[in-house]
Amino acid sequence: MSRFSTSNIAQMATPAETKRDLQHPGQRPGVLDVAARQLLFTELMRGMWLVLEQFFRPPYTIFYPYEKGSLSPRFRGEHALRRYPSGEERCIACKLCEAICPAQAITIEAEPREDGSRRTTRYDIDMTKCIYCGFCQEACPVDAIVEGPNYEYITETHEELLYNKEKLLANGDKWEVEIARNIQAEHPYR
Ligand code: SF4
Ligand code: SF4
Repeated sequence: MSRFSTSNIAQMATPAETKRDLQHPGQRPGVLDVAARQLLFTELMRGMWLVLEQFFRPPYTIFYPYEKGSLSPRFRGEHALRRYPSGEERCIACKLCEAICPAQAITIEAEPREDGSRRTTRYDIDMTKCIYCGFCQEACPVDAIVEGPNYEYITETHEELLYNKEKLLANGDKWEVEIARNIQAEHPYR
C-alpha cells in the first residue's frame, strides 16, 4: 500500500494540532470536544465577539491633521534659534554646533559687535542635509540652537529648506513656550 493512502492522510495532524501536542503532550481533545466545537460554532462566535468588542472601542487611529497625538519632550523636529527674555540672541558664536554636526549641515560666520560681544553674522542650516541627530542642541552651551516640536514644515522646493538665521530666529520666537517647557521637562536627565 502507498505510504500516503487516503486513510493515512485523514489521520495526519494539522500544524496547529502538532504544535499543541508538542506543547501539551497527552492533552489531545476527545472526539466529543471536537464535535461540540464544530456543532456550536464556538470559534466562530469568539471571532464575532472580538469584532463586536472592537466596534464599541474608541478608535486607535486619530483624524490627522485635525487631531494630533502627543509628543515626547525629547522629540527632535524643526530647528530654532532662541533668544533670552530680553530679546537678545542666546547664540555666542562658539561654533560647537557647527563642529559637531556629522552632516556638515550648519554654516556659521561671526564677528565681534561694537560692545565687544561675539555674535553670528550668518547661521545657516541645510535642512535637507540634516539627519536630526540632535548633536547640535546637545553641544550648545547656552541652549540657543534646539530642535523644537514642529514637524509640519514640508515644502515644495529645496530652497525653502535652506534655513538662514532670520528663519531660525523666527522659529525660536514662534515656538519658545513649547521649547522652554520641553527643556524644563528634560532638565533632570541632562
Ligand atoms: S540635528 Fe544633527 S545633523 Fe542636524 S544640524 Fe543638528 S547636528 Fe547637524
Ligand atoms: S548655537 Fe550654540 S553651539 Fe552653536 S554657535 Fe551658537 S552658542 Fe555655539
